[in-house]
Amino acid sequence: MSESEEKRKRAKDFYIPPHSHCKVCGKAIPEGQIYCSKECRDKDLKAQKRERNMMWAFYGVFMGLLIVLLFASYFLK
Ligand SMILES: [Zn+2]
Repeated sequence: MSESEEKRKRAKDFYIPPHSHCKVCGKAIPEGQIYCSKECRDKDLKAQKRERNMMWAFYGVFMGLLIVLLFASYFLK
């Protein structure tokens, strides 16, 4: 058996049908799906919401600081 033939055989042995992995827990799921279960979907949606809230909180702090700096530069003239 030539080397390339053997390689082909080995690749066939380890052939895995097309599939995806759950975005949250990494479990193998049918291709085209994002989550393995409703629980994982809920978890990810909650995490996204939290991320968005964090972004807004950060934005708020940043704007607050900017306003404070503007006032400070105005009054410390
Ligand atoms: Zn999952």
